[in-house]
Amino acid sequence: MSSLGKGLASAALGALLQARGYSVRLRKLDPYLNVDPGTMSPFEHGEVFVTDDGAETDLDLGHYERFTGVSARQTDSISSGRVYSNVLEKERRGDYLGKTIQVIPHVTNEIKDFIRIGEDEVDFMLCEIGGTVGDIEGLPFFEAIRQFAQDKPRGQSIFMHLTLLPYVKASGELKTKPTQHSVKELRSIGLQPDILVCRSEYDIPDKEREKIALFCNVRKDAVIAAYDLPSIYEAPLAYHRAGLDQAVLDAFQITPAPKPDMTKWIDVHDRIVNAEGEVRIAVVGKYTQLEDAYKSLAEALTHGGMANRVKVKTEWIGSEIFEREDPAPYLEGFHAILVPGGFGERGTEGMIKAATFARERKIPYLGICLGMQMAVIEAARNTLGITNAGSEEFDHEAGVKRFTPVVYHLKEWVQGNHAVQRKIGDAKGGTMRLGAYTAALTPGSKVAQAYGATTIEERHRHRYEVDNQYRQALEKEGLMFSGMSPDGKLPEIAEWKDHPWFIGVQFHPELKSRPFDPHPLFADFIRAAKEDERLV
Ligand code: GLN
Repeated sequence: MSSLGKGLASAALGALLQARGYSVRLRKLDPYLNVDPGTMSPFEHGEVFVTDDGAETDLDLGHYERFTGVSARQTDSISSGRVYSNVLEKERRGDYLGKTIQVIPHVTNEIKDFIRIGEDEVDFMLCEIGGTVGDIEGLPFFEAIRQFAQDKPRGQSIFMHLTLLPYVKASGELKTKPTQHSVKELRSIGLQPDILVCRSEYDIPDKEREKIALFCNVRKDAVIAAYDLPSIYEAPLAYHRAGLDQAVLDAFQITPAPKPDMTKWIDVHDRIVNAEGEVRIAVVGKYTQLEDAYKSLAEALTHGGMANRVKVKTEWIGSEIFEREDPAPYLEGFHAILVPGGFGERGTEGMIKAATFARERKIPYLGICLGMQMAVIEAARNTLGITNAGSEEFDHEAGVKRFTPVVYHLKEWVQGNHAVQRKIGDAKGGTMRLGAYTAALTPGSKVAQAYGATTIEERHRHRYEVDNQYRQALEKEGLMFSGMSPDGKLPEIAEWKDHPWFIGVQFHPELKSRPFDPHPLFADFIRAAKEDERLV
């Protein structure tokens, strides 16, 4: 079932294979029918992870990147929706030469072709299938990987299966039956797992391990325990101790196995365990009930803490509350405030209040995407006196014109060497300004100092944009547009000059942060928070 940590297990295995000197790439296959998660609410599916090449993907790709440092690509994420849409497109084009189109072989071939993209580039390709064994949507994927293993020479692919060992309090036992049944289900569709990763709250006694091995037809040392961990970044070390990488190399009959170099993960672990002190960050956003909605953000904050050897305590505050109540009692006592990305008007007036509070009280503020847009609107309202400053996004949503559009609908921009054009009323899927874009930073600005560079590349996902025509007026008030698109047209970063640390960015820096390579903005944000000793 979902939420057991399949994504994390895959990511950790990727890291362990790298530690043994291999190159890896990770892929996610999702059985749902959306073409990509871009059109799903964060409440449905958690965060949408954006790749450099502009794909809107599953949040597991974020784990893959954070654990392996390998940037994901468009071709690392696929859903049933995409598979069917490709197959139907080919059918309409006449590519199937008059054949009847069927799940086997046409859909399964499409899935196998996807798995094989760039397979020669790496030593190991790790493909994770989302959902649960037995789901109707998952069947073509399971059938495809069954065929895939048959197509390959012997010993070139293995199957891993993640199961739950529930602990029954009444009898004080770990139960192996759910594992047995799910393996039975897999075997009934022709898949015999080589390795079982068993998620368990408690130690798996030898007796239980033997039982699982016997009933599930796997070797005893291929029954790998996956315990709950205080930090996800312990997963590579924990899985290594549990023998996962050894079991994988054994299953591939790679002997002798290259020795692992775990220094990177020992350092990461050390920074987490030996953090000194704690900074408290308030994240004032709109999907705060579900932490997965801001997965990469939560991780990037942790990485920022690791860079400064402090623990980061993040509190999630629904911004709507500030539309009814004074933010001061809620926000006083935090070392920094972060307003993250989001879509739609709900809660945005509260974000603006949080931005005012941070600006006036000189508390470090990081605004990301919507959080930057709200900070600029705040400045337009409260320093330029444009009292109805707002975003066109909200007028479009409401179908009435109420705001002066300081943030407007982006109709044209440059990508590489061509112009992209958009209209209101375009289809929603995949039409935002997506993926990596370059920005030029003002030398000497706070961001340039934080990055230690004046040219950066960051990932975007937005439809609206701060209107550059307010630049001069805002800069006169001290809000500097310290990062711009290379053509000078699109404001990418705004920062208050006379403030210890107030930076808004139009992109999503959190997507590129790694535990062993914390993102410079997050590292600097947490540094500023740490230095913010004037707890008001
Ligand atoms: N809704 C805003 C836009 O589309 C902000 C998007 C975001 O925060 N990712 O521009």
